[in-house]
Amino acid sequence: MSAGAGGPCATAPGPGELVAVAPGIHWTQIPIPGMLRTVNAWLFEDDDGWTVLDCGSDTPAGRAAWDALLAGPLGGERFARIIVSHAHHDHIGLAGPLARRLGVAVWTSGAEWQAALRRRQESTAGHDGVLAYYRSLGCTEADARGYIETRATGTRNMTDLPEDCILLGEGEEIRLAGRPWRVMTGGGHSPEHVVLHCMADGILVTGDQLLPRITPFIGVDPSDPFADPLGSYFAALDRFAAIDDGTLVLPGHGMPFEGPASRAAETRLHHERRLAAIEAEISRPRTGYDVARVLFPRAMGGAHERLAISETVAHLNHAVVTGRLTRETGADGVHRYATA
Ligand SMILES: [Zn+2]
Repeated sequence: MSAGAGGPCATAPGPGELVAVAPGIHWTQIPIPGMLRTVNAWLFEDDDGWTVLDCGSDTPAGRAAWDALLAGPLGGERFARIIVSHAHHDHIGLAGPLARRLGVAVWTSGAEWQAALRRRQESTAGHDGVLAYYRSLGCTEADARGYIETRATGTRNMTDLPEDCILLGEGEEIRLAGRPWRVMTGGGHSPEHVVLHCMADGILVTGDQLLPRITPFIGVDPSDPFADPLGSYFAALDRFAAIDDGTLVLPGHGMPFEGPASRAAETRLHHERRLAAIEAEISRPRTGYDVARVLFPRAMGGAHERLAISETVAHLNHAVVTGRLTRETGADGVHRYATA
């Protein structure tokens, strides 16, 4: 492990490379479509085989990265399992093809597995419910159809799912890289995101639940329009806040870092500020679409606009659940939010 100004590991692995971050724990990056460019995959080395945690999107570049790893630093190794932190395409997309290739099972939580199956069905299902959802936020029909199209783009990189899955649950203990790890699950970014904590050695594998520099996307899904994912996420952040700040965090994107409690506090502050900005904005009843345009003026258009609206509604719903705002549904079926 190399110490440096950039944190506990100063240099990220190049394509097809492994970097050791702790004894028996290795890091690689798989290219993914979109702004984040890469997802981190973590590899745990044990006598009965290696464990892969997170796989990348099912794209030619993602497949080529695994080809290079399996022909290079992982050539001839045995594998024990694949663990998927959550069911977004950049983490689960290649889990099916890779599991078949390595001859191993895929492990994740029950709600993540269900979410992956639902997402795969979406490509063939009708979109009436999703259209109605976006109209209830004050979006035009044309905009709503655009959002549905951008969502389908992500789903295309995760259609080849494994046949079945071994389920991991909150509080379970597993051994990886010769150490005991406690499974922590939490909502917010996804329904039952899997995080692994090795208290003995002070290592936390967070997937997208806790990230350096950026905050994970917290959004409302059209299938559950009044959900409060931000409330679930605050509960997950409270648990990170209780973990020793000397702990090494291995995140789903970006560089490893130390200090889960400090990062959890910064992340919470980001959302508290956004809640305050929303309340300041709602001097008269506004739709979710109106508020998103004010909060994310540069994000309006395509996939960014869909994510901006989804994240705005997460904050609006949390403000309603906690009594800070009210939500009224008009005769036009559109929800309008106002200060309580
Ligand atoms: Zn991710």
